Amino acid sequence: MPVSPTLAEGLAQATVDAYLEAERALLTRIAAALAKGLDAPAWAERQLFEVQSFRRQARALLVELQATAQRTVNEAVATAANRGTAAAVAELSTALGAAPDDLLGALPGGQAVVRLVTEAVTRITGTHARILRATEDAYRQVIADIAPRVLLGAETRREAAQEALNRFAERGVTGFVDSAGRGWDMSSYVEMALRTATAHAAVDAHSERLETAGYDLIVVSDAPQECKLCRPWEGKVLSLTGTTIGAIDVQHATDDDRTVHVTIAGTLAAARTAGLYHPGCRHSHSAYLPGVTRPPTATADPEGDKARQRLRLLERRVRAAKRLEAAALDDTARKAARAKVRTAQAAIRDHVASTTAKRQPAREGLGAR
Ligand SMILES: [Zn+2]
Repeated sequence: MPVSPTLAEGLAQATVDAYLEAERALLTRIAAALAKGLDAPAWAERQLFEVQSFRRQARALLVELQATAQRTVNEAVATAANRGTAAAVAELSTALGAAPDDLLGALPGGQAVVRLVTEAVTRITGTHARILRATEDAYRQVIADIAPRVLLGAETRREAAQEALNRFAERGVTGFVDSAGRGWDMSSYVEMALRTATAHAAVDAHSERLETAGYDLIVVSDAPQECKLCRPWEGKVLSLTGTTIGAIDVQHATDDDRTVHVTIAGTLAAARTAGLYHPGCRHSHSAYLPGVTRPPTATADPEGDKARQRLRLLERRVRAAKRLEAAALDDTARKAARAKVRTAQAAIRDHVASTTAKRQPAREGLGAR
């Protein structure tokens, strides 16, 4: 049972859900505030007060979100670390025929987990300032678009307001940039940040368990159509501690009288710095026991990868349609948005029926919806 970023898959969902729910709640509040007195001549003036009230509500909502993020990120990272430890124990007990209990024993303190949680929470809640500004800006933009057109009939004004709000709802809160300079929308950014943290937690806990048990070597999986960043590391034996590098004879893992010639390509830390386990990476590694570990077999599934990526795109479309639904000013707009949601969901049903991609309804949600 090797360790890989995919071991932590799914653990980000609770946090992502909280952000999707917050986005939906903010849109619903803007729509409700905009609809107030939409037919009255003094609508624009009234909206200036509504904006203040919206900002207070939004701030309170983001304070709550901060607490939720702290709790869910902590759970996700701790679970990922536990899985990494369990994977290491399973590998060693299978390869050595030892009882898993003998490989457990006291773990060093969870300092690494605490640090990963703190980093991830800081990164994720660092989105709040932008969420607040982007939603308030969107709200003000709708008012600015409609205010000069006070002479329009009420119906026309409503349509124009809906159109302006939909422009924002369709794309959601965007403009988050990662360290590689790529732009993300809000929920994808939160997910990426947490997946990075959980992947690290799983891999670090795995390494820690192997080291504690006295094993220093690991071997990286071999995947067809591998990612460019990982190609140099495929099938390579790496050292966790860096004490042994290069082509050397090491002691056989189970036979004291034998040595095995092995080439150690570098440290796991160096491989990670060079790009191994980049976000979205599907490689893995496991303990390398000289003379016992067989070379890794191919584990990747390029067709499956493509199908999964397509599913992610379709899920984003469902979420965009659900934002339109949240931003509806009236029943007509709500019905139209609802139809878009159904069309987008039908596309997902077709996709999962014809590929190996597995539907994950939670990923199509805006929070609990
Ligand atoms: Zn990779």
